[in-house]
Amino acid sequence: MRQVVLLTHPIHADAMRLIRAVAELKILSKPTEAELLREITTAAALVVRMPISAEAVRAGKRLRVVARHGVGLDYIPVDVCTELGIPVTFTPDANTESVAEHVIGCMIALAHGFAPADRAVRQGNWAWRDKNIGCDLFSRALGIIGLGRIGLRVAEIATLAFRMNVRGYDPYLSSDVFASRDVICAPLDELLSKSDFVTIHVPLTPETKHLLNSVRIGSIKRGSFLINAARGDLIETEALAKALSSHHLAGAALDVLEDEPPKPDNALVGLENVLITPHSAALTAEAMYRMGMTAAEDIVRVLRGEAPINIANRPMQAGSRIG
Ligand code: NAD
Repeated sequence: MRQVVLLTHPIHADAMRLIRAVAELKILSKPTEAELLREITTAAALVVRMPISAEAVRAGKRLRVVARHGVGLDYIPVDVCTELGIPVTFTPDANTESVAEHVIGCMIALAHGFAPADRAVRQGNWAWRDKNIGCDLFSRALGIIGLGRIGLRVAEIATLAFRMNVRGYDPYLSSDVFASRDVICAPLDELLSKSDFVTIHVPLTPETKHLLNSVRIGSIKRGSFLINAARGDLIETEALAKALSSHHLAGAALDVLEDEPPKPDNALVGLENVLITPHSAALTAEAMYRMGMTAAEDIVRVLRGEAPINIANRPMQAGSRIG
């Protein structure tokens, strides 16, 4: 009998073809927990593009691998997978360039007022230009929280293309990494109080949840712009909405929210100085191909009894289901 590979959502056609060559491929008809709980019982592999519960993993009695299509491991109860001997794979670097470009695009869009200018013109308000003056990125101060794959690429583009002065905060990096990228290593408070643009690129963990709380948002330099293309829960929604309504912050670009899709009472959605995208920073043709193929190739390896390459946990210690 062919093994079943279950997808929470479709992935790139080439990646699905690769999986179909070795297994039966199933896609959830509705990406809900109830549907997942029903379908996971027969799956040997699961490709994850939405948060999944520990209960779902435990129900997957035949699971031999859980593959994250992307890099955010907060979507997967990794500890439970490790305890059950299930390898978790992810797709590092597959979306780095796409997200970094999205972030730079957001900085330009905020600085030049693309979204409000577009709305004004469509409403017949050409005179918007007389009252709204933008700013350049060139030589401005940029603060990057989290200098991993995406944060470092944003730093590189900002430095090379716009000669921005970049400060970075990442307590897990050695000073050599900062120096090699022309990034000033700064404490978080200094980064927040001195940057014209702040962008956050840390994983969501218990330590980083609400890293930008009301106190820290209050300490961001007045008139700055904030960009979040990492996870909504890194920033306290209500505090951010207050800082934007009072124009303490000039604007924010958010690819991610604490509630996705946003509930009708989400305080950020109605604000004129917020640019929101639907968690789409990594959804370019190139990134979709790379994420899909990287995930599929590791699944094929596991189904053949080989070890995956992009492994995020150490299930071998618990008696792995790889073999
Ligand atoms: P990465 O693991 O390469 O980098 C994360 C960096 O954050 C690391 O250098 C780490 O040392 C640092 N870090 C961890 N805790 C920190 C803390 N408390 N303070 C400061 N720095 C801290 O990950 P990446 O590929 O750069 O991705 C970053 C995050 O972006 C992912 O975890 C994911 O949640 C998010 N992401 C979102 C999208 C999207 O579609 N919007 C796409 C890709 C990634």
